[in-house]
Amino acid sequence: MFIDKATISVQAGRGGDGAVAFHREKYVPAGGPSGGDGGRGGNVTVIADENMSTLMDFRYKRKYAAENGANGSGRRRSGKDGEGITIRVPRGTLIRDKATGAIIRDMSDSKPFILAKGGRGGWGNIHFATPTRQAPRFARPGLQGEKREIVLELKLLADVGLVGFPNVGKSTLLSVVSKAHPKIANYHFTTLYPNLGVVYVKDGVSFIMADIPGIIEGASEGAGLGHGFLRHVDRCRLLIHLVDASGSEGRNPIEDFETINRELKEYSPELAERPQIVAANKCDLLPEGSKLLDELREYVEAAGYEFFEMSAATHAGTHELMLRAAEKLAGLPPVIYYEPEYVVPEPVIETSEDLIIEQYDDCWIVEGPWLEKLISRVNFSDYESRMYFDKVLREAGVFGRMEKMGIQDGDLVCMYNLEFEYQS
Ligand code: GDP
Ligand code: MG
Repeated sequence: MFIDKATISVQAGRGGDGAVAFHREKYVPAGGPSGGDGGRGGNVTVIADENMSTLMDFRYKRKYAAENGANGSGRRRSGKDGEGITIRVPRGTLIRDKATGAIIRDMSDSKPFILAKGGRGGWGNIHFATPTRQAPRFARPGLQGEKREIVLELKLLADVGLVGFPNVGKSTLLSVVSKAHPKIANYHFTTLYPNLGVVYVKDGVSFIMADIPGIIEGASEGAGLGHGFLRHVDRCRLLIHLVDASGSEGRNPIEDFETINRELKEYSPELAERPQIVAANKCDLLPEGSKLLDELREYVEAAGYEFFEMSAATHAGTHELMLRAAEKLAGLPPVIYYEPEYVVPEPVIETSEDLIIEQYDDCWIVEGPWLEKLISRVNFSDYESRMYFDKVLREAGVFGRMEKMGIQDGDLVCMYNLEFEYQS
């Protein structure tokens, strides 16, 4: 079965907690701190796999989680980092945000993409020792890993897309000019999923051609098979529009041509504008003295399209058509690549929940679910983000509370993996 859309959720690993521990040695009554750091949570990475052609795997498995980092322990031992996971998708898969539909990444290249980052491990108490604070009795918990709900959508990568009514010979043409073996039969909707074939035109010149299920009238309103498959020609640089010039199924070739163009336009006006070569197929079936072919040629050329006569059955004209397609492609822009459009939303932080503020000598520990969320989302290397962070804390009255509790300038404030000296 051909599956070209799937909704999945991914969860990166949580960071391990830092440990509170102290040396215990013979004759050393009170050793120094020795609690190690928590390990990093594993990432969820996505990579394009040349050998996959559908999103079938995602039909049965919808949840993907990377391993959590292990907690730190005594004797300065850090916790092990969580194992990351790699999700393989067919080349040309778009990753979209489920809620907004915005494109997060176009998996058309071979670069691995980190879709969800693992949380950082918390610091063990060895990090908090200073000459005046020799026995810190606290450590930091690890941060949560990113979680994402996404939609995978396959949009095949092909230079040339074949469009046309069912049964006009698209699959036959692909099988004649490439090594692909699409299913061919004399009934409608033989092709149930797209096929790709590499067309070798001559030494050093080749391109990829896609055969998609036939589109029919009403397909753009969702009737019947086909409309959804048009997305597989979205990226194509050139369309070859196949028409049954012999009218072998009792339809008029000119009307067929118009119908398909209308369908394309309804699906995407931009796709309808894509360079198009019109290929009149089944010329071997033209009855003696038929005017159908001449009428079609005149009509198509008047509409400004290039016109080819051919027969996929006898191979007449197929090579010429491929040569011309290759020539045209040489002057066309590359296959469409979709730029990311997803912007990470400003975190919605509900600051009404209570925070826990603990004091250990000159060291203050602040913790709570919303603070953890805030910290894992703020980019501290960015000035604006730091200002935003400061504003949220002030407005939530965190510093006011600490002042009432007696915090002094220069005291250390620890908020998860963030540490700073207090300045009133
Ligand atoms: P598709 O639905 O557009 O992919 O059409 P197919 O490639 O499956 O072809 C449909 C039927 O038309 C099959 O029986 C083919 O053998 C036949 N066919 C395809 N091209 C030609 C042609 O040029 N001449 C003749 N006589 N039959 C053809
Ligand atoms: Mg077919």
